[in-house]
Amino acid sequence: MSTGDSPLLGIDLGTTNSLIAVWREGRAELIPNALGDVLTPSAVSLDEDGSILVGAAARARLTTHPLRSVAAFKRFMGSDKRFTLGDRQFTPEELSALVLGSLKADAEAHLGVPVSTAVISVPAYFSDEQRKRTVFAAELAGLRVERLINEPTAAAMAYGLHEQQFERTLIFDLGGGTFDVTVLEYALPLIEVHASTGDNFLGGEDFTEALLKACLSDWGLSRSELDGQALASLEDALEQLKRRLAEGPQTLEWNGRQWQLDDARAQQIWTPLLARLRQPIEQALRDARLNPRDLDSLVLVGGATRMSVVQQLVATLFGRLPYRHLDPDTIVALGAAAQAACKARDRAIEEIILTDVCPYTLGIASRRSDEQPGAFSPIIERNTVIPASRVQRYYTTHAQQEYIRIEVYQGERPWVRDNIFVDAFEVKLTQTGQVQALDVRFSYDINGLLEVDVTLESGQRHGHVIDRSPTGLSAEARAASQARLAGLKIHPRDTLHNRTLLARLERAWMQTLGAEREQIGQWLDEFQSVLGAQQEQPITAARQRLEQELDALRF
Ligand code: AMP
Repeated sequence: MSTGDSPLLGIDLGTTNSLIAVWREGRAELIPNALGDVLTPSAVSLDEDGSILVGAAARARLTTHPLRSVAAFKRFMGSDKRFTLGDRQFTPEELSALVLGSLKADAEAHLGVPVSTAVISVPAYFSDEQRKRTVFAAELAGLRVERLINEPTAAAMAYGLHEQQFERTLIFDLGGGTFDVTVLEYALPLIEVHASTGDNFLGGEDFTEALLKACLSDWGLSRSELDGQALASLEDALEQLKRRLAEGPQTLEWNGRQWQLDDARAQQIWTPLLARLRQPIEQALRDARLNPRDLDSLVLVGGATRMSVVQQLVATLFGRLPYRHLDPDTIVALGAAAQAACKARDRAIEEIILTDVCPYTLGIASRRSDEQPGAFSPIIERNTVIPASRVQRYYTTHAQQEYIRIEVYQGERPWVRDNIFVDAFEVKLTQTGQVQALDVRFSYDINGLLEVDVTLESGQRHGHVIDRSPTGLSAEARAASQARLAGLKIHPRDTLHNRTLLARLERAWMQTLGAEREQIGQWLDEFQSVLGAQQEQPITAARQRLEQELDALRF
């Protein structure tokens, strides 16, 4: 079953990896990419021939070609940051659009039909602007967003389908760049989110970054002493070291230097990051009016929850082991596809009703007393069930006022200067010679997008106030993004396999020394010459063999 012509798709657009899943025959199913993997690294690289590589090849080129490759750009979604790849510049949403476009092509190849819509997951704690930019990224990739779903809510949806006995659950979602905590209750067919909170700048990447700092400091080196390629290679090696830590103490060998890491040292390096994980948990429980012992289950989501220090912290905080039956890497995409089915009222899922919340407080700048402008006046408080519409009455400051300026903010701090600015606009007042009252209404929809309208005492209504298009992006900026992407050549899907192996071999060569490096050099030459002969069968055979060799060496 589908909405219109497009299959029912769910996309997890992650900081580190992205996935796409389809709902077919009553269940969610992950779609493999051109390499046969369900995880596509959220990395983009500009190849020497000017074509764009997305996924594993780009991931490998982060190390070999750091000036032409980029990853973790989701962290900058909603900012003005520009990324330079060779001679070109990209916004975070353009890069996200390239990842989404690659997932779309994979789905089309797998399903054999055109794809035009999808449910896309976003961190629960993503701001209004970050959500709008995600919708714009999809638009650039030729996808209409059927709905934005909060990542932990998507995970909850997937768990709800598998395990129906749960009642009160806490979803702990630590991805590559964001951290979300969601408390919800299953009373099937109802899945009710009670509280959602988090930190948009805390994820697995920060744990790698902390290792990098500690390692450089132990070696008495500063970042500026390493060139881009050396730094990228060291970061990559530390990422691998972090992942292997669960197997026991590790030694890093890098360019003739050594660095030791065991659990105790890692714990010490990561103490500040682990401390930051506590606060959102405490807030979510407080907002849901629950104690840790009231929870019936704990679910870990996101690749970074594979870290044993994180699992230990969760076990200590909650006095029990988390429930981890489903794969934390894939569950969000599966839940997003389930949500697509829900929206399309697929029979297998139609009875499930999901209610979500607005994870942060939204309000306007006002005065708490005459002397103090710039106070934050909440209109929709955090963890209000959505969709929500709330109205609040305000007054002009003096009788002759001609305009009133409405400044919208989100956040939890008493002064607007400490919160996130969302938008501002002015409303012209009809002169009455008196102080006037005005009603400001905020409507927050299920995608997490906000609309504001103002009604004056005269009954005059200023509807449409906050632009539904991506905030801060003018029509020209959007057209420019479209033109930039339209001018790009995407690496052909059918040869991506070979291109990726070459990129991996190059990276492995760079990261090894001596006999191992010599061996990898031979494989590189061998594969180049097989490719040169342009015979499909020997190419496939050599590729499969060399992929296995590299897997065995963990490259
Ligand atoms: P996600 O955005 O959910 O794909 O999470 C990716 C993050 O998980 C990255 O920061 C990875 O470093 C981290 N990660 C993935 N696998 C592991 C592992 N086995 N051990 C530690 N961290 C991991």
